[in-house]
Amino acid sequence: MYDTLIIGAGVTGYGAAMYAGRLGLKALLVGELPGGTITMTDRVENYPGFSKLTGQELADNLRKHAEDYKEFIDFRDDRVASLERKDNHFIAEIGKEKIEAKTVIFATGTKWRELRVPGHDEFKNKGVHYCALCDGFFYRNKDVAIVGGSDSAAKDALVLAEHAKKVYIIYRKEKIRPEPPNMKRIEKNGKIEIINNANVLEIKGDKSGVTSVMLDRDFNGSKELRLDGLFIAIGHIALSELAKSIGVELNEKGEIKINRKSETNIPGFFAAGDVVDTHFKQAITGVAEGVLAAYGAYEYVKNNEG
Ligand SMILES: Cc1cc2nc3c(=O)[nH]c(=O)nc-3n(C[C@H](O)[C@H](O)[C@H](O)COP(=O)(O)OP(=O)(O)OC[C@H]3O[C@@H](n4cnc5c(N)ncnc54)[C@H](O)[C@@H]3O)c2cc1C
Repeated sequence: MYDTLIIGAGVTGYGAAMYAGRLGLKALLVGELPGGTITMTDRVENYPGFSKLTGQELADNLRKHAEDYKEFIDFRDDRVASLERKDNHFIAEIGKEKIEAKTVIFATGTKWRELRVPGHDEFKNKGVHYCALCDGFFYRNKDVAIVGGSDSAAKDALVLAEHAKKVYIIYRKEKIRPEPPNMKRIEKNGKIEIINNANVLEIKGDKSGVTSVMLDRDFNGSKELRLDGLFIAIGHIALSELAKSIGVELNEKGEIKINRKSETNIPGFFAAGDVVDTHFKQAITGVAEGVLAAYGAYEYVKNNEG
């Protein structure tokens, strides 16, 4: 029986694992995608203590730090298929095994919110993409667009501009809202053009992939915008189903409700990072919540000893 089972191998899970190890908790960290979402950006400038590093470097640093406590922590790149709560402990199904733990730190993050318009499913991965860092390279000297107005969308546009000839940012509201340093980079970048107050209604293409999108307003005299690729950054959906299956309380967006100790409504079940109901979701906030969760798990285990 582990003291704690950490589900999720993103920055939040790694932060929680490092602290669980320091506190001497016997822990298993299990996560499907090592490093998680942060590995999809090449520019992190807002993690205190590091002026600039790639997302992959940040994830690797956090993982290495957690591995300093290998004496206490086991690592598995795998998926938790189901969760159960029994007699005040938890049972997770991982592959063919059932793993038992006194507490859970749930840090499963999110999945992309999809742009549900005609043409999306037909051209997904054939011109429609969600990761600019992974797929931007294929659009060398081509015309692309990114849908979204967040800081992540702006950073994706900057990544795309390193490869593409032209990058449009299509945003449904009046003004995109990146952090100010990224806004300045967008304004200075001669390849990037913002199409405000516009929605994509349809994605069109042929055998070769995407050829255009239909907008709900005229741009340069036409509702049809010619493109070779469309990237989507319209937010994320919390991966909270496993938690929900054992009665963990969610908010209306499907995010796990936590308090300032990263506790949920279920004793011994903690949650942290992008999957929870916090307003501002960043690597540093996820790591901090993960550390609080590890400390909460430590207190819980001590208080319930014997
Ligand atoms: C393009 C982009 C740029 C960004 N830039 C920045 C930035 O500059 N600075 C910053 O601070 N933040 C940035 N963010 C936000 C940041 O990436 C996230 O806030 C952070 O990575 C969330 O970490 P997490 O560990 O909570 O979740 P995730 O990173 O999503 O990790 C979740 C983990 O859980 C695993 N998992 C899910 N379900 C299961 C299961 N059933 N079984 C096992 N494992 C499971 C996943 O495989 C993954 O390992 C950016 C985000 C994007 C998309």
